[in-house]
Amino acid sequence: MKRNKCLRRKAETTTELKAIDTKLQKLSNRLAAACKGDVDHQLTQDLLNARLNLRVGLGTAAEDGEAEIAFSGTPSVDRLGAFGMFVEAVRQVWRNNEFVADVLVLSPEEPSGRVLASLSYAGTPSAIGNSILRRAPRYTLRVSDRLLMRGTNSVRKVMIHEAVHVVYMNHGREFRDLVRKHGGTVSEEAIENPGVHVQLKRGSRFETIKTFDTEPEATRWAHEQKRENPGKYRLSLGEQ
Ligand SMILES: [Zn+2]
Repeated sequence: MKRNKCLRRKAETTTELKAIDTKLQKLSNRLAAACKGDVDHQLTQDLLNARLNLRVGLGTAAEDGEAEIAFSGTPSVDRLGAFGMFVEAVRQVWRNNEFVADVLVLSPEEPSGRVLASLSYAGTPSAIGNSILRRAPRYTLRVSDRLLMRGTNSVRKVMIHEAVHVVYMNHGREFRDLVRKHGGTVSEEAIENPGVHVQLKRGSRFETIKTFDTEPEATRWAHEQKRENPGKYRLSLGEQ
């Protein structure tokens, strides 16, 4: 029957595409390992695009519910995929993004500590609005396995956060405004632990000390803490 033949062909195509996708994944890993984090930007991008195209192909091949081999359709994100989203986020956030495009590199390593992702660089970049005035000589992105497990949406939100860090090193007002404007997450912790967070600022980092379901509860508790510990806390509501 013509229809059966079509379905069989679809299944075969999906299998072949999967094999090519696996091979591309191995190639990207070897590239990342060989360059020890100093991955050539264009090569990385080419490989990433090839994989994305293949995934679109895979999704289409299995779209028909009757196909024998089904592809889940929601690809998990790997380190290289996250890097691609980071580059995309940099393009989205910074008007003169070509200024930094060639100095963004992916490290195959995890960030240190408990952070989901980190962007490290030397120097002090600056910007006016969403135009970069001065950039660092090089930016190294590290992505944790924990974040990759969270799926595409969470990775994208954190990559927008990191993209804004290309210029703004701390989580100040300008940082938060830009992150929100582009749909990123201001607090990395909110990704792992949704809810309203009461955070304590330690140095330049915010640390969640308690989480609530609603904002009034969180606000009430924060006010209580302040009352019970005079002079110890300063409240900045809605800051994080
Ligand atoms: Zn941050």
